[in-house]
Amino acid sequence: MTTSALPTRRFLDEAKSLACVHCGLCLGACPTYLETGNENDSPRGRIYIMRALEQGRLALADAAVRHVDLCLGCRACEVACPSGVQYGQLLEAAREHIEERFRRSAFQTFLRRVAIEEVFPFPARMKPVLWAARLARKLGLEPLFPKFAREALTLVPQDTSADGLPEVSPAATTPLKGRVGFIQGCVMSVMFGRTNAASVQLLNRAGYEVLTPPGQTCCGALYAHTGVLERARQCARRNIALFESLNLDAIIINAAGCGSTLKEYGHLLREDAPWAERAQQFSAKVKDLTEWLKPRDFKSQISNLKFITYHDACHLAHPQRITQPPRDLIRAVAGESFVELPESDVCCGSAGSYNLTEPEMAERLQRRKIGNILKTGAQIVVTTNPGCLLQIRAGLQKAGASRVHVLHIADFLLERINKNVQAP
Ligand code: SF4
Ligand code: SF4
Repeated sequence: MTTSALPTRRFLDEAKSLACVHCGLCLGACPTYLETGNENDSPRGRIYIMRALEQGRLALADAAVRHVDLCLGCRACEVACPSGVQYGQLLEAAREHIEERFRRSAFQTFLRRVAIEEVFPFPARMKPVLWAARLARKLGLEPLFPKFAREALTLVPQDTSADGLPEVSPAATTPLKGRVGFIQGCVMSVMFGRTNAASVQLLNRAGYEVLTPPGQTCCGALYAHTGVLERARQCARRNIALFESLNLDAIIINAAGCGSTLKEYGHLLREDAPWAERAQQFSAKVKDLTEWLKPRDFKSQISNLKFITYHDACHLAHPQRITQPPRDLIRAVAGESFVELPESDVCCGSAGSYNLTEPEMAERLQRRKIGNILKTGAQIVVTTNPGCLLQIRAGLQKAGASRVHVLHIADFLLERINKNVQAP
């Protein structure tokens, strides 16, 4: 790791960076500040660091980059900020600047440039990697691996793949309520194929025809979060071109992290004249599954349910500000069995690929989340993002509490509906 020899340059939107008035009201919402108590690991501190980097008052060296790297990108600070600071946009710009000019260790470079950028967004590449990881676990080879790799192995799910989704899934009820597109996601389609199938079934039962066009690509979140914005833009252009001709009422996504990026294509392509308007129109149609489904579609009399709690995926609760709809859907089938989770919107440490690049802080936040879950006595934890599912499952297993099930909300709703249908 070296200090950059390149000159500094403007990379922040000045008005947006000056919007921070240093009031500190965001500090208590920031998971890394809650853990370290270090001002440099707070939103206010990081904005100060970004501005100092831009103005050349601080060298682009390990110390400064460390505090920016440790940011989860969870954007809890945006919700807490009374001045409306758009922290996520500042962070993305700072990360792009860092990735272009800062030389990382060989290990971090491999993780970011190879594993995160060249494997995760490509289902055909991810499948053999997952197969090898499952085999290593089956053969009990974990002790042979370094701690980092052992941690990564705990995240690998059992085989939850399913046959690919049909291009057209007809509505299961009449009259037809509408026609929606479905984004399969790269991680979701490989690791949570059954959850995708459950999501489409729920939409069909609610009266929607679902189109899942082939040729979709990663939403670009994995690139945007690590500062590789041009590749994120390439993903955005491809997805826009694919969906815009389909005459859809909405484009549905069931992964919070992807949904947040899909809704921000307008910002991502704002300086690309031929695409800017198309990106805005695409983003306006994107809906999280939980904002599109309605509780009345699932109302049922279910008793004897175990306690159920809900973990707010950061990218649903913060950039998308969707907190009530998933709770309403859960309550529709779980009634009084629903219990609130303390600190439900504090990041679980997954944060996209953060648990690979920053395993130590990820583990601290995972422990914090598991402690809160166990306090509720819940036997089911529902959430809306693949990273959270994997992180929380792995944490419960480590804590000897694998009796607590962690379900995507689509699987939870479909399971409850099917049980109800089968009930005498
Ligand atoms: S709450 Fe907003 S304005 Fe106040 S310090 Fe945090 S980011 Fe800055
Ligand atoms: S994005 Fe999350 S971790 Fe980063 S500064 Fe904001 S609250 Fe803290």
